[in-house]
Amino acid sequence: MKQGFHTRTHRWSHQPSAHDARWIPLPDSLQARVITDPDPLTHAECDLGHQHHQAPGLLLRPQSAHEVATAVRFAAQHGVPGVIAKGAGHATGGQALASQHGALYLDMRSLNQIQVEHTHITLGAGATLRAAAETAWTYGLRLTSGVTGYANLSVGGVLSAGGWSLDHVTGTIGDYADELQIVDGTGTIHTCSPSRDPELHRWVLGGLGQFGIITRAKLRLQPARPYASFRVLRGMDHTEMLRAARSLIRRGQLDSVYGRRRGHNPSWEILATAYHHRNDDPMPDMLRGAPDPDAHAGDPQPYIDQILSHDTDLYDPLIEQGWAEIPKRWWDYFLSDTTISGFLAAAHASEPDGMFGESAVALAMPKFRRSVGTGLRLPPPSARGEGELVWLADGLLDPGLHYSGDPHQWGRAAESWIEHLTEEAAHRGATIYHIGNVQHSMLEHYQRTLDHVTALRSEYDPVGLFGRGLWRTTEKPATAQQPAPHHD
Ligand SMILES: Cc1cc2nc3c(=O)[nH]c(=O)nc-3n(C[C@H](O)[C@H](O)[C@H](O)COP(=O)(O)OP(=O)(O)OC[C@H]3O[C@@H](n4cnc5c(N)ncnc54)[C@H](O)[C@@H]3O)c2cc1C
Repeated sequence: MKQGFHTRTHRWSHQPSAHDARWIPLPDSLQARVITDPDPLTHAECDLGHQHHQAPGLLLRPQSAHEVATAVRFAAQHGVPGVIAKGAGHATGGQALASQHGALYLDMRSLNQIQVEHTHITLGAGATLRAAAETAWTYGLRLTSGVTGYANLSVGGVLSAGGWSLDHVTGTIGDYADELQIVDGTGTIHTCSPSRDPELHRWVLGGLGQFGIITRAKLRLQPARPYASFRVLRGMDHTEMLRAARSLIRRGQLDSVYGRRRGHNPSWEILATAYHHRNDDPMPDMLRGAPDPDAHAGDPQPYIDQILSHDTDLYDPLIEQGWAEIPKRWWDYFLSDTTISGFLAAAHASEPDGMFGESAVALAMPKFRRSVGTGLRLPPPSARGEGELVWLADGLLDPGLHYSGDPHQWGRAAESWIEHLTEEAAHRGATIYHIGNVQHSMLEHYQRTLDHVTALRSEYDPVGLFGRGLWRTTEKPATAQQPAPHHD
């Protein structure tokens, strides 16, 4: 029986037995793409945060950009209340959930084709970054950007966020997306790049899915250095961690340096990685004088094993034990090099008990400001200018796998801490990375560019199909002007 949409009740249903002119059948080409199995429906109705739920009005698994375009056109013509592109569903604040009943959800994981051509890899938006990195590696190549801390994320979801990779020496993943295929809110398919339709290209990256649906991305590759050496330098407070990380970065030898704290342990560690050509270990030289110089993480590994080791060592075992099912709350701010220390001090000082279960992490991930060019909004530069570091400071909180308390109460405590942290961050001129649970308005996010963004949205999504996610708050901001940054 056919599926269709009722234009008065805004409900999706099978064809009614009596003729009803307001029930419109979904185009025939999409009928076979309707998903009714419980597993994908459960995946679609919530995300990793388990804070919000919104069941899809209808869930489709498109097989091509043309099918995405047909679905979007249908939605635009018949008043469907929103279209949501869903990747791996690993945001935590309802980013890939509709704000109202009846929305059409597209499970993008079915668009997972991968093709390597010389300097680029072309990926369906639902392919994972992990699959992209593994495929490139079979050609002796790597994603120029490097990968995220956890790589089982969809390419479309990561590019919509921006994609802050672990390699501090590169830009974001979006910075190396040399071509994108986008379906806009009228169902038109665009191919855009920095030279072709550059405005669309620029704003889709880091644009949180509000200008169109990414169906395909062409990411830049480079030859992979085959080996990676890695150390964890332990036992620092945040000030020592930042000082040591800056000093290691200044030497210019390491490819990835960032700070992390894990679980109940409040001390910070530095994860330092170098990629190299020969099967030897350059670390002792590169880490001379650094804290915890004896840290040892084994022999050099193949590059691919090392970059995916967060998945295999940390997250895969946790997911096996049910980590994906427990509640999470996430704070994510971009801070300048002059303000991160004060922010982390404020976070430590205000941390309520029980925010960091044994599987929770906080990260401080730097990049050079000059390398980041996507639609991400970064805090204003200080006197150090384009050469300075910008940090993504985030905390992926959870109550732990064996938590026996009330998860709602835990969630509320975490949200209230995040509200406080957001004030602390705003006071320091921070901007927000929208992958977690930080609430703020579009005006606060886009500031002076909001009028431009609004005009672009009306051009590419005239009906407003894509602006309907739960996290896209449009109410007036608490403060109309961002305060002048407070430097610590
Ligand atoms: C353990 C863990 C570690 C992480 N580490 C990092 C990290 O190191 N760096 C980093 O930058 N991020 C990191 N992330 C965050 C992650 O990049 C984002 O949450 C990303 O959006 C997740 O991709 P997804 O496929 O799960 O997207 P979803 O959660 O499915 O969707 C997220 C948003 O993207 C939109 N979207 C999804 N697919 C498309 C598409 N094809 N076209 C248009 N819009 C689309 C959705 O509508 C939604 O608004 C991490 C996440 C987890 C869970």
